[in-house]
Amino acid sequence: TPSGEPGSTTRRPRLTVFSGPSGVGKSSVLAELRRLNPDIFFSVSVTTRSPRPGEVDGVHYHFVDPAEFQRMALAGELLEHAEYAGNQYGTPRGPVEAALAAGRPALLEIELQGARQVRRAMPEAQLVMLLPPSWEDLVHRLSGRGTEEPALVARRLAVARQELDARDEFDATVVNTDVRTAAAKLLTLVVGPGLSTNAC
Ligand code: 5GP
Repeated sequence: TPSGEPGSTTRRPRLTVFSGPSGVGKSSVLAELRRLNPDIFFSVSVTTRSPRPGEVDGVHYHFVDPAEFQRMALAGELLEHAEYAGNQYGTPRGPVEAALAAGRPALLEIELQGARQVRRAMPEAQLVMLLPPSWEDLVHRLSGRGTEEPALVARRLAVARQELDARDEFDATVVNTDVRTAAAKLLTLVVGPGLSTNAC
């Protein structure tokens, strides 16, 4: 069962993979999680896609060109990598390993193919999927973001359907009915029960 945590008493820092369809609200939940527990290491991915308005290089992503991405992949510098909606995304290996070695729980917000690669490479990682309250809710949210072209929205909805269909491969799911409740549940999964509150 998802709640069974045989290794939790050892308090080894845990690697959590956090996935969910585009538009489900992963960024909002992660912003709230960051506020709740600043000790969690949040991986910054490399990507070949262009920055959206407001995105900062080195903060939201490391924005690189395809040649640099390929170099990193071939050099083994990426823990996992995948193509999504025509762009490449990958997780830099070094910072994640350094965080875990330093005793910090680490979180990767990545899509399904990457989650599967991490599962194979690091079987001790836990996979958590964020779910929308309903499919209709997801369609509404994805169409309403307004920053993407309609063709891209349709493409992302098709991928979203595939991602939701893979939910059984995940160790736990969190329904994003409201951001604070979802973040609190994710926090318990990432750091373990009893270690979840930041003194405030
Ligand atoms: P977006 O372009 O909307 O920021 O992200 C598109 C998708 O790429 C999201 O599902 C996000 O989780 C995923 N993604 C972001 N970074 C990575 C990564 O490093 N590896 C993989 N496999 N997916 C990623």
